[in-house]
Amino acid sequence: MTETAAAPESVVIVGAGQAGGETAAELRRQGFTGRVTIVGEEPYVPYKRPPLSKTYLAGTATTESLYVLSAASMEKANIGFIGGTRATAIDRGGRTLVLADGRKLTYGKLVLATGGRPRMLTVPGADLPGIHVVRGIQDVDRIREQFASGKRLVIVGGGYIGLEVAAVATKAGLTVTVLESMPRVLQRVTAPEMSAFYEKVHREAGVDVRTGVQIAGFEAQNGALHVKLVGADLEADLVIVGIGLIANTELASEAGLAVDNGIIVDEFTRTSDPDIHAAGDCTNHPSEFLGRRVRLESVQNAMEQGRAVAANIMGKATQYANVPWFWSDQYDLKLQMVGMSAGFDQVVLRGDPARRSFATFYLKDGVMLACDTVSRPQEFMLAKKMVGMKARVDASKLADESIPLKDQVPPG
Ligand code: NAP
Repeated sequence: MTETAAAPESVVIVGAGQAGGETAAELRRQGFTGRVTIVGEEPYVPYKRPPLSKTYLAGTATTESLYVLSAASMEKANIGFIGGTRATAIDRGGRTLVLADGRKLTYGKLVLATGGRPRMLTVPGADLPGIHVVRGIQDVDRIREQFASGKRLVIVGGGYIGLEVAAVATKAGLTVTVLESMPRVLQRVTAPEMSAFYEKVHREAGVDVRTGVQIAGFEAQNGALHVKLVGADLEADLVIVGIGLIANTELASEAGLAVDNGIIVDEFTRTSDPDIHAAGDCTNHPSEFLGRRVRLESVQNAMEQGRAVAANIMGKATQYANVPWFWSDQYDLKLQMVGMSAGFDQVVLRGDPARRSFATFYLKDGVMLACDTVSRPQEFMLAKKMVGMKARVDASKLADESIPLKDQVPPG
């Protein structure tokens, strides 16, 4: 923290996801007494998305359990909520947010926490009924209407959504095929060893994992969906597409804010208009840790950036700095990842994938850039520390399980 300034009288937050919810809650925690209003396109109060592809899809989590802020807690904290309404424009001169229903909300500070939307396939038939995405509660509610034992599910994309959904669906008795366009699943985020491990785990669970597959289109025939592949055809009762996220930046760019792979913010979470902050998947922020700008799609980023926005609005200049980390639950396995592996020149394996508990470290010139652990929460915590401090490590010791990882954390 470097300086303080007076808090505004009112804050309007666009986006009722985890970034928006956390910003509002943190404003109240920090003693903000002015008006706080959250505007959300979906009808729900701010909710967590991670369970959507896990427990919510499995039917073991209720809708209410997803809420970051329940309606009652929002009322108690005097946080206003306008749901089911899209924000359509920002009048920066008049400090006014315009909503699709014609309402206009004036603001002292505006927060854009607009998140992202699923990337869609552009092949013929991609909008046929029975082809789904997983982004919101209503998407999963629609999937669950067809989610029954014996149904044939084709998943397009072997990323986080695709693999988490495959695990839940297999357990629920569906026949599952995963189609990934790249040569291996999780290609962009992990080493080949980790991709190979997850492909094996899924195949052993009965999932038909196909990599390097291009989809030509879909056709509806006799109550089934035909998935047309280059060179082959598949039949499905339902299809789930998880091929990445597009940041929702249009509201910002149409208002003349700087946008480049996300809404550009400075280290104090401000957009190119100092009265407008932004947080979460939609932002492109300078990362001191990475030494470059980055747009992150992670819950931790959404929450921590939301808290930094609140502090900055309160006038406590707070630099947003974090070490990115992610996690994914598939079957009984917890994958935890810290850092960004791009640019590594050595991968070190610790433990035996066959025992379903191991770690993969990514080094560059002997410095730990990133680490993925499978079902090793203690080692993950240590790796998080080591990645954060850019620890110089000895690869042979790192691979040696007889030397505890805690003894390899450099002092300081
Ligand atoms: P993702 O993790 O980016 O994975 C998408 C995968 O689909 C990539 O491997 C991608 O390959 C592949 N793909 C792209 N186009 C394809 C095509 N035409 N045919 C077949 N495969 C194709 O995105 P996601 O799984 O859709 O997830 C969406 C968002 O939800 C992300 O923000 C993600 O972080 C978030 N999410 C996170 C978690 C978690 O952290 N556990 C869980 C669920 C969702 P390319 O690399 O070539 O694009």
